[in-house]
Amino acid sequence: MNFGGLKYIVVGAGFWGSVFAERLASVLNEKILVIDKRNHIGGNCYSKTDKKTGIECHQYGCHIFHTSLKNVWDYVNRFSEFNGYKHKVLILNKNKVYSMPVNLATINSYYNLNLTPVEAEALLKKEKDKIKNPKNFEEKAISIIGSGLYGTLIKNYTTKQWGTDPKNLSPEIIARLPVRTNYNDNYYYDMYQGIPIEGYTGLFGKILAHKNITVKLNTDYYEIKNMLPKDCKIIFTGMIDKFFDYKHGGLAWRSLKFKWKRYNRSDFQGNAAMHFADLDIPYTRIHEFKHYHTERTKIFESKKTVICYEYPADYKNGMEPYYPVNDKENNYLHAKYIKEAVKNRNIIIGGRLGSYQYWDMDKTIENALNTFNDFINKKYMLGNK
Ligand SMILES: Cc1cc2nc3c(=O)[nH]c(=O)nc-3n(C[C@H](O)[C@H](O)[C@H](O)COP(=O)(O)OP(=O)(O)OC[C@H]3O[C@@H](n4cnc5c(N)ncnc54)[C@H](O)[C@@H]3O)c2cc1C
Repeated sequence: MNFGGLKYIVVGAGFWGSVFAERLASVLNEKILVIDKRNHIGGNCYSKTDKKTGIECHQYGCHIFHTSLKNVWDYVNRFSEFNGYKHKVLILNKNKVYSMPVNLATINSYYNLNLTPVEAEALLKKEKDKIKNPKNFEEKAISIIGSGLYGTLIKNYTTKQWGTDPKNLSPEIIARLPVRTNYNDNYYYDMYQGIPIEGYTGLFGKILAHKNITVKLNTDYYEIKNMLPKDCKIIFTGMIDKFFDYKHGGLAWRSLKFKWKRYNRSDFQGNAAMHFADLDIPYTRIHEFKHYHTERTKIFESKKTVICYEYPADYKNGMEPYYPVNDKENNYLHAKYIKEAVKNRNIIIGGRLGSYQYWDMDKTIENALNTFNDFINKKYMLGNK
């Protein structure tokens, strides 16, 4: 590979890297090389059609696009239409199915009552008043939904997800546990929701289709970094601790394992997402992908389906880092790496792996767009265009 004259390299073809590359190509009319160590574009949003069933499957956990950010929605709609899918989640505990997030149907089903919104609010308030200053995840959750709903819907699921008793987790993790005292069972409040009509890989293909962008897959940054020209700007969306050779130590992550199955039946569970709140069931979720594209009627009505079991896992070297463990210690460590990054004007670190944040896709895109704007403004200010 010849990198002579290369001015910009974007490491990572996920949303953050792809959006940043598209902006560089379109706004600055610069030539960009985008590399990814994987054999596909799209990062963790990558979707692939299962050849045997024709069903499009999200390879790194299900991805539902949702946002209230008008600029982000307008941006993605320049590249793809969306199908208007609205996410609903069900959770199973001891053979009983509840609706999530906790809403009036969940509350009434759990208490076997027929409360009105005002009555449900009063019931939750009584529970809230029992805990004044929640000191951990468990106390915080109980202070929001009460011990009964917490024990049935949250405790075991969280234990499996984080691999520890929720009493050991900080209350911030659950700061925004959504609770509704109406029957709205849409998982998100956002104004704009859906799945790209041509799937995520179709959408990424269009974002990266700019004539100034070259994409090279199966290319690890660490294998080519010594061949890059000295003044090449590196836009890096991989792990920040590895970038700095773990000099301050490694950041903690949670990982996932997936197990796939095909069935010769038209519908496995009647919904895209089923969560599992029993401790003796080792997985936390089953995804059934055909439900994301009901507009693909032939495939949706076919007598075949694909499901995926999601198992939470401790993160070890070589596994995918999925969820940052944003406790005080790790955030402090991350801040040290950021200090290193800002020292070098030729490096921009972004994306979920660089920023050590759990961001939904819309926040990832928003951050890439904002970082690009900061970048060009500073660049023009410095007069080095
Ligand atoms: C299980 C799960 C489910 C999710 N579901 C949703 C959802 O329903 N809705 C939603 O809005 N968001 C969801 N998200 C969040 C979404 O996945 C992220 O917002 C998005 O993927 C972040 O994009 P990114 O570009 O920052 O990172 P990534 O998508 O991870 O892209 C980073 C890329 O960099 C590449 N890379 C890393 N190191 C190197 C290297 N050394 N050399 C070359 N390439 C490298 C990687 O291979 C990867 O392709 C979910 C996240 C998870 C973990």
